Amino acid sequence: MQIKKDALNFILGVSGEVYPNEFGGMLREENDIITEVLIIPGTTFGDSFTSTPLYMLPIDFSIAGSIHSHPNSSFSPSREDLVFFGKTGKVHLIARYPYRDINDVAAYSKTGKRIPLHVIDK
Ligand SMILES: [Zn+2]
Repeated sequence: MQIKKDALNFILGVSGEVYPNEFGGMLREENDIITEVLIIPGTTFGDSFTSTPLYMLPIDFSIAGSIHSHPNSSFSPSREDLVFFGKTGKVHLIARYPYRDINDVAAYSKTGKRIPLHVIDK
């Protein structure tokens, strides 16, 4: 999986801004490249990510998956994360504190398997 530098910087920036709360959003992709992060109306920062109201998701086939931050610096998806991953999209990112760069972002498949993530600069 690849992610555009702009999208990565957005994730790191917003995650840092809402720290110590949790940031959550959805990912848009084109040809296996994550291009954009969508913030879902009704998402409550600071609550568990599973509070994201799925009914608010736009019917949009370019939704690739989700992103949320872990202010506790852990990369491991929680049980609730894994349930959520299974329901929505094929790639899920976890950004961990301190949100410095690509090394603080991990990508997981629908089943919670870690997958490689590369930044592209265009
Ligand atoms: Zn989580």
